[in-house]
Amino acid sequence: MKYLNYHITDSVLIDAGIDSIAAFYNTDLNKIRLGKRGNNWASTIDIVGHELAHRLNYQTANLTFYGESGALRESIADIFATLGERYIRTIYGTPWNWTIGEDAQIIRDLAHPSLHGQPEEYHGFNWQDTSNLNSTNDYGGVHNNCGVSNKWFYNLSQSIGPDKAGLIAYYMLNLNLSSNSGFHDALQASVSAAENLYGNCSDERNAVISAWSSVGVSSLNIIPCHNTSPGNDNDRLSIAQNEEIPFHVSVYPNPASNEINIEFPNDTNDCIVAIINTLGNKIKEVATRGRNATIDTTDTPNGLYYVNVVANGMHTDKAKVIISK
Ligand SMILES: [Zn+2]
Repeated sequence: MKYLNYHITDSVLIDAGIDSIAAFYNTDLNKIRLGKRGNNWASTIDIVGHELAHRLNYQTANLTFYGESGALRESIADIFATLGERYIRTIYGTPWNWTIGEDAQIIRDLAHPSLHGQPEEYHGFNWQDTSNLNSTNDYGGVHNNCGVSNKWFYNLSQSIGPDKAGLIAYYMLNLNLSSNSGFHDALQASVSAAENLYGNCSDERNAVISAWSSVGVSSLNIIPCHNTSPGNDNDRLSIAQNEEIPFHVSVYPNPASNEINIEFPNDTNDCIVAIINTLGNKIKEVATRGRNATIDTTDTPNGLYYVNVVANGMHTDKAKVIISK
């Protein structure tokens, strides 16, 4: 829920009156429309959460409504609807669940997508053709193929718990996906998210890869790793002694609150670290040397920022960071 509060800065309008057990989010009007048939309202916690999460998508990755990115968009809405339901029902001490719409009519189930006709595997049984993007084909099966990433999220939550899985999904959406991303982009994006949050060779990273693999999404370039030395989650750094590696900074924690730590891949003599806001204005700058830097952000307002690093006058890198207090 805090994710929604953070992004939905202006109020979302809600109106009712369409004769249907369905709900919609209208991007242009910033309005949720909730259907009603007889005395049945499509206004359950998870349906409203689903529509609110469309707003979250609109303000972050802005995944389009077509094909694979459309399926991811629907899935993101189901994932955050479920996390929202979990949050609210936990406060009230009532049980939460993985189904969407159970108080009106169950339309999807993250744990068992196939029970409602959705695929549980990429291009597997129930997969809907994504080459036909017409409205008659649900814009490429967006409300159907979302079963794949819904099941991914469910499997990931079973492995590392819904809190960590939710943070990875949020980070993936906010920093690593863009409008036309598909399932393999989501694999890459969620693995980067887990690396940033939990370490380059963390159990969480490997769990993300396994969960995708269990729904048929994998890549030869993204494979589980083995953390050989305890406490060292930066295997990549030890390679640096022998091989030339790209200058790539790590920023943690992310989201950050009162302090940002920046780690450089190798020793630097003369390093300038700047924090830039989304308008491109530099709001902080520190000169440093060595392997890392810390920037005090107690007086920095919440929001999205870029950490810009120039080392030894030649290596540069940029990373996104969220400040959230
Ligand atoms: Zn939707």
